[in-house]
Amino acid sequence: MVKLNDEEKVFSDKFWALKEKSGSHSPSILSILEISNRESFVDACFLSNPYATELFMEYFNRELIESGKLREFIEAYPPQNKEIAEYLSSTIKIPVGNIFIGNGAIEIIQAILHNFVNGKIVINLPTFSSYYEFAKEKDNVVYYQLPKERNYVLEVDPYIEFVKQNQPDTVVIINPNNPNGDYVSLENIERILCELSFVKNIIIDESFIHFAFEDANFSMVTTYDLLKKYPNLIVIKSLAKDFGIAGLRAGYCVMDEAKVTALLDTGYLWNVNCFANFFYRVYNRPEFMERYDVVRKKYIMNTQMFIKELSTIPQIKVYPSKANFALVELIDGTTAKDFMVKMFYTYGVYVRECGDKKGLGGQFLRIASRTFEENLTILKAIKDIFKNG
Ligand SMILES: *Cc1c(COP(=O)(O)O)cnc(C)c1O
Repeated sequence: MVKLNDEEKVFSDKFWALKEKSGSHSPSILSILEISNRESFVDACFLSNPYATELFMEYFNRELIESGKLREFIEAYPPQNKEIAEYLSSTIKIPVGNIFIGNGAIEIIQAILHNFVNGKIVINLPTFSSYYEFAKEKDNVVYYQLPKERNYVLEVDPYIEFVKQNQPDTVVIINPNNPNGDYVSLENIERILCELSFVKNIIIDESFIHFAFEDANFSMVTTYDLLKKYPNLIVIKSLAKDFGIAGLRAGYCVMDEAKVTALLDTGYLWNVNCFANFFYRVYNRPEFMERYDVVRKKYIMNTQMFIKELSTIPQIKVYPSKANFALVELIDGTTAKDFMVKMFYTYGVYVRECGDKKGLGGQFLRIASRTFEENLTILKAIKDIFKNG
């Protein structure tokens, strides 16, 4: 069992005071550095593909910085929502009328919950907290607890039965789920859509879907093609994690045309800033997409190896994941808070402590996969902590 020394305890008090101020999300990196004695750390809290960030930076540096065009970008208005939807339409091969662009997925979650949800909403636990925090009427939230003894896996039959019993207006499935990484196959998603045609809105959050796979080739999966058959489908997609661009605020939603129109008729005109707009332009190029797919697959391979290696550490239980992180349970009596603090303060690796996540019973951390080298650092830190106490 791991215990904190005096210096770690001092940092611990400061850290939890800071965390208290940021609610159910993590404090910003700068604010954490300010209270620590570190210049830098391995960020295994934030969930993003570092190889994709590196790839995008190459285009950003060349075409915005070195070209001297930055001022032009900053000085001008960005294109309107609809215009960005047009080039994204050719990238993702979905009709422009079905696409709504958000200032990150978080704005879309808010827009949908506030405009289209009028009744009970079924949210699976554990989950991404904004889905219940942004609900207009908290009394309408009905939780479906994923069973711990089944590794928090979403099993189709009991889920369908629960939804039928509750007759909600809306259901939310995050696929793969955050914070445990459980992936529901396309076949099972289709079964759910087929059985739940009476539900007005079926929200599938695919923010981590680029890291999931169904074949040995890691081919990209998505459910938007099912919109034609199931008009109640709403697919929400953040681009922050898979492209490693959280600071740009990019995300989109694929849904019934009437819903897109309803939102655009009431606002969201210039909700995409010039840098996110630049990203969509780049994403639209076949040459970028090909290169992205290479780093996406490389990262999936690293991640799956990382998760496998984590699973060999006897003091922790690692939950199966097809996302870019693993949910890890400490099973040797160490508290997740102490582990997180020691890992950061003494070993320079920042992981997410999950004590504030509803529906997780136990001592949990969420550990993101990084570059191959950083993953080795993370693994070594965990092993050393258990060795040194
Ligand atoms: C991170 C996250 C979001 C928010 O994404 P942004 O594009 O950064 O707003 C939405 N849904 C899930 C499941 C997430 O993990």
